[in-house]
Amino acid sequence: MTEVIHEPARAVPVLHETEVLVAGAGIAGLFAALESAAQGARTTLVDEYSMVGGNYGPGLGSRHDLWQSPTFRDRGLGGQVGAFLRELERRGGIKTFDFISGGDNVPWRWQGMAPIPVIDRNEFQRLALQRLRELDVALLLSTTVAGAVVQNGAVGGVFVETPDGRRAVRAQVVVDTTGEADVAAAAGADVDASHAGTEAGMGLFFRVEGVDWERYEAFRAAERGKPLARAEQRWVDEVLVPAMDMVWKNYPRELLPFIMADWASGAFRYVAPVPGGAYAYKIPFATHDQDVTTIEVRWPPDKLSVLNALNRSTIEASARQHAYDTIDFYCRHVPGFEQARVSQTAPYMGNRWSRTIVPDYTLTKEDIVAERKFDDVVHVLTTLYRYDETAQQAGRTRRLVDLKNREEGHNFDIPLRQFLPQGLDGMVAAGRSIGRERTASLRWRWIAKVTGGVAGLTAAVAASAGAPARQMDIRTLQRALVAAGYYLGEPERLAELGIG
Ligand SMILES: Cc1cc2nc3c(=O)[nH]c(=O)nc-3n(C[C@H](O)[C@H](O)[C@H](O)COP(=O)(O)OP(=O)(O)OC[C@H]3O[C@@H](n4cnc5c(N)ncnc54)[C@H](O)[C@@H]3O)c2cc1C
Repeated sequence: MTEVIHEPARAVPVLHETEVLVAGAGIAGLFAALESAAQGARTTLVDEYSMVGGNYGPGLGSRHDLWQSPTFRDRGLGGQVGAFLRELERRGGIKTFDFISGGDNVPWRWQGMAPIPVIDRNEFQRLALQRLRELDVALLLSTTVAGAVVQNGAVGGVFVETPDGRRAVRAQVVVDTTGEADVAAAAGADVDASHAGTEAGMGLFFRVEGVDWERYEAFRAAERGKPLARAEQRWVDEVLVPAMDMVWKNYPRELLPFIMADWASGAFRYVAPVPGGAYAYKIPFATHDQDVTTIEVRWPPDKLSVLNALNRSTIEASARQHAYDTIDFYCRHVPGFEQARVSQTAPYMGNRWSRTIVPDYTLTKEDIVAERKFDDVVHVLTTLYRYDETAQQAGRTRRLVDLKNREEGHNFDIPLRQFLPQGLDGMVAAGRSIGRERTASLRWRWIAKVTGGVAGLTAAVAASAGAPARQMDIRTLQRALVAAGYYLGEPERLAELGIG
């Protein structure tokens, strides 16, 4: 049994009161706060970092954003999400690159991708701060949400750790956008931690400088496409791939002789073992945003958990160490990298999938494949793949849609119930915190934006009605979403719902 120490009960001063409190100012949290404030609710946004943006902010992410599906290109993203992205684009803060011509050497499964938008992190941050100020969102930065105020089965605020100690913030509705359902877990709601072990794993973005990219690309161009020698192929199959046990068998082909030599001498392991059974490796550089790349960490599900602070710290420290070691390896061997150095590692290490709420309703693969309609739809989303005979014939469960030919994925409803933690009122979740069903891939950045906006609007409407979100008149909410520009279907569908 785990040893426990009882903390004395204490009176916690109330620091602040608000109508809607958004816990976690990442990708979902930012848009939740903007949408809530745009609906007229007094809104407060809390984050443990001193900046907003989460994976885009201290996470240094933004490699690519998969919101280029035909549905969204044609209909656009609605609400504050769409307005924000249009303004960001106008300012030159969204660039595109063609994934197929990207630098990775392995034939990606994602053939058929249209050019992919890449967000400029600094422009994103600048516009985010401006919009938050314009909409009068109160910011509580460098503040960790450490507990939930729960009364009569409803969340009525959060406890926070501030530079001045523990404080309380009262709120009518809390939006949990911590990415790991921290508020729901603290409030005692059922949460699903079964993905905290692995699946997609953690990734550390880091930046290098001093690279002569032209020399590097010339070297790659000369090497690219050369077939592997038999001994190299055997080494990849017998040593490298088993060491990775990875989803993407992705390694820089042109570096293989150096990788093999250093592996044999013990100078450097491209796939480094991490204490506790995990392993770290670097994603090959790609041409779209060359100075930022990722160290990935994976581990067997039963070995480590990102919810265990000791495990997590091991993973985080090992990923940083591997970033330095990898660039040293590049400096030793790779043309163009002689003067390279790591200039920044992200202070926030992303986690693709961890603890989530257990919602009133969990979308299933069957719902998505059947494009099932829900009466409490709050957004229609589109997959980037299809489950069909072509995929089955190729021995896969799904295949990527051919975006160049404007093929659509499955269009599926996301119901309000997916945002609501079972048995707990006063709280709505968004972003990774709701991404329970793997098939729906609810963790993608563009979906995190959309679910954030929807959750923020829902929270504002619930606060204004003074009713828990699950008791609200769903048509009132759907009308408000449509009026804000969110996509709940074509006019016939809206008419069917009685909101057209
Ligand atoms: C390495 C990596 C690569 C990825 N690549 C892609 C990609 O190519 N395309 C794509 O679409 N998606 C990608 N993703 C997924 C995507 O970035 C995330 O799923 C997305 O960021 C989810 O948004 P979120 O708002 O839920 O979480 P985050 O953006 O992680 O935001 C969570 C926020 O909550 C804050 N927070 C957490 N706990 C607390 C607390 N207790 N108190 C206060 N603040 C707290 C954090 O500081 C953070 O700001 C990637 C993710 C990772 C990790």
